[in-house]
Amino acid sequence: MINFTVGPVQSGENVREIGSRQIPYFRTPEFSEIMFENERLTKKFAGAEENARVVFITGSGTASMEAVVMNVFSREDKVLAVNGGSFGQRFTDLCKIHDIPHTAIEVEEGKTLTKAELIPYDGKGYTGFLVNVHETSTGVYYDMDLISNFCKKNGLFLVVDAISSFLADPFDMERLNVSVMITGSQKALACPPGVSAIVLSEDAVQRVNNHRIKSMYFDLKEALKNGERGQTPFTPAVGILLQINVRLKEIEELGGVDKEVQRISDLAEDFRNKIKDLPFEIFSESMSNAVTPLHPLNASAYDIFTVLKDEYGIWVCPNGGKLAEKVFRVGHIGALTKEDNSVLVDAFRDLQRRGMI
Ligand SMILES: *Cc1c(COP(=O)(O)O)cnc(C)c1O
Repeated sequence: MINFTVGPVQSGENVREIGSRQIPYFRTPEFSEIMFENERLTKKFAGAEENARVVFITGSGTASMEAVVMNVFSREDKVLAVNGGSFGQRFTDLCKIHDIPHTAIEVEEGKTLTKAELIPYDGKGYTGFLVNVHETSTGVYYDMDLISNFCKKNGLFLVVDAISSFLADPFDMERLNVSVMITGSQKALACPPGVSAIVLSEDAVQRVNNHRIKSMYFDLKEALKNGERGQTPFTPAVGILLQINVRLKEIEELGGVDKEVQRISDLAEDFRNKIKDLPFEIFSESMSNAVTPLHPLNASAYDIFTVLKDEYGIWVCPNGGKLAEKVFRVGHIGALTKEDNSVLVDAFRDLQRRGMI
């Protein structure tokens, strides 16, 4: 099987080896050291400022999205949320559930956010901004410079879900003036699902500490306090945190985050070159290195997903909802190679010979 989905993705051998071991007890100085190292490397790769902090939540990416909305915004805020697909919708839903006054900027699926679309919200008393830098559901990659400049100009507290973009696209929290960045274990970190990470600027840490919330598990004040000694309030997914540690150290040893971004970018470019003469259209206006969203011109996208899985042992990522027949996605994150790309492209050519695409 080759897995080209957008997560969980394929893990390298070193990460898988950790998964076969017994889980150690974790209230120890040894585990605290590992957590400190996870925090240090995550901060470094996110381009976070010196005094930034990282909280590791045992829960998938959505758990961290919810924790952030609860811990940094309140009824006194007025938040803008970019909604261009199912992950943008999720932020909007979270604002609704937690009674955060908000306005959704509805972006057509497959389209990016333009300067003109932001103008109506300029100088209108907004206090915060929520965006999924890579709207994984459609494969759209938003212009962070545009968003960052708008937020700087309006003094907005900027929260970025970079769950599928972290390590795949260049990102610099400090330069972009991002207050909170969220990522997850099963995307470019290429570990099993179950852990997500929240990187908080000094500003964001202060905001969290001044905020009273009605939740025990998601109270980030407790997580921050425990984190000072390299611990978590409750039992974390210890095994995954050990796998994240191995993976972060591997990235560092191989030359750091820029090298990893370049590796994924090369893989994406190789794939996009190899499919140029196939009957597919790129679905989105602006792409992340993490994913290529494809619209087959003569076939159902969902049928392609099924036949690749059942007859070729290859997994691409199907879309849900109204894009199910129209779009499927090919991921470039995880332990994949250019040879793997060729295997997938050969399968496409075989489908073409069989008159199926
Ligand atoms: C994968 C992903 C998430 C998290 O989804 P979970 O299933 O909760 O891990 C959130 N946002 C984006 C943009 C994603 O790609």
